[in-house]
Amino acid sequence: MESIYNLSEDDFKLYLNNLGEKPFRAKQIMEWVYRHKIESFDEMTNVKKTFIEQLKKDFSLDLLEVVTHQISSDGTQKFLFRLKDGNLIESVLMNNEYGYSICVTTQVGCNMGCVFCASGMKKRLRNLETAEIIMQLLTVEKVTGIKITHIVIMGIGEPFDNYENVTRFMKIVNYPLGLEIGARHITVSTSGLIPGIEKYSNEKLQTNLAVSLHAPNNELRNKIMPVNKAYDIDKLIDAIKKYIDKTNRRVTIEYLMLNEVNDTKECALELANLLKGLNVYVNLIPYNETSHIEFKKSSNERVMAFYDTLKKQGINVTVRRRFGSLIDAACGQLRANEVNK
Ligand code: SAH
Ligand code: SF4
Repeated sequence: MESIYNLSEDDFKLYLNNLGEKPFRAKQIMEWVYRHKIESFDEMTNVKKTFIEQLKKDFSLDLLEVVTHQISSDGTQKFLFRLKDGNLIESVLMNNEYGYSICVTTQVGCNMGCVFCASGMKKRLRNLETAEIIMQLLTVEKVTGIKITHIVIMGIGEPFDNYENVTRFMKIVNYPLGLEIGARHITVSTSGLIPGIEKYSNEKLQTNLAVSLHAPNNELRNKIMPVNKAYDIDKLIDAIKKYIDKTNRRVTIEYLMLNEVNDTKECALELANLLKGLNVYVNLIPYNETSHIEFKKSSNERVMAFYDTLKKQGINVTVRRRFGSLIDAACGQLRANEVNK
């Protein structure tokens, strides 16, 4: 049976049209499902019985099965879920001063093969359905009783390799009568799939874009991110420029700090040069070390030196707070531990 969480308001309108029902019911369904978070269709008090029976026949309201739920001393919570087909995925809930944000997974595994990433060690088995992404959020809210205010699409998987399901997810969580998560509170991160960036620039979503750059030149980026061989840095920067021109929105450049790999002063200067004049800000990410991967994190001194060099060059830069490193909360690490057992 299809999950109800796969449908956007537009999809419900189509469904209703096929049934000969009035389109306004789409709004009612969205409201019941996402605002009132019904667990049974019988809770829909302003809807006629025959229609409720139809919904029961067509859709499931099930959430995800929680395999493990860990809470770190810094308040970060990590969830491992089992999907209907037995595959495992994970989400991380972070407590920030501005609210609660969830990091969601978009694929089972990832095909991009970044050499530093635990998710990339397992080939993509399949894309997640929209519902499987939404259910991560709904299940976490249900288990914790917390209202999630921000979403980062930075868990396992390359979101733009699952473009349609991910953008439908964004539309559903942003729906004003539903979960009502503000577009500006939603960020999608890509390893640099240029066709995805181009498509995304045409969506009228007002959501945020982050790009995982992690290296300031092709030679280095080719070594750590194979995607660079298909879409090199010059083309990527050009795509980011066009995105900014089109949307008038600032882009986040993610830069992972890998000890003595990409964290030298030369790299910082090269990065500054690459980004000069662009409406971007750089987010330096402390690396979460993974047992099966040889990369080490940069020391705080090296991160700060890199930060200072960028600042002096006039680049906007921040250092990401470390989240949940105590419970392997970096992308893909919990699942990697399970799968490698
Ligand atoms: N596939 C997308 C989104 C998921 S990864 C992307 O690559 O952008 C989200 C971010 O986490 C990326 O910037 C990725 O490079 C980074 N990341 C991967 N492994 C990490 C680790 N062990 N520690 C910290 N960040 C990591
Ligand atoms: Fe995939 Fe992102 Fe990990 Fe690269 S960093 S392997 S794109 S999840």
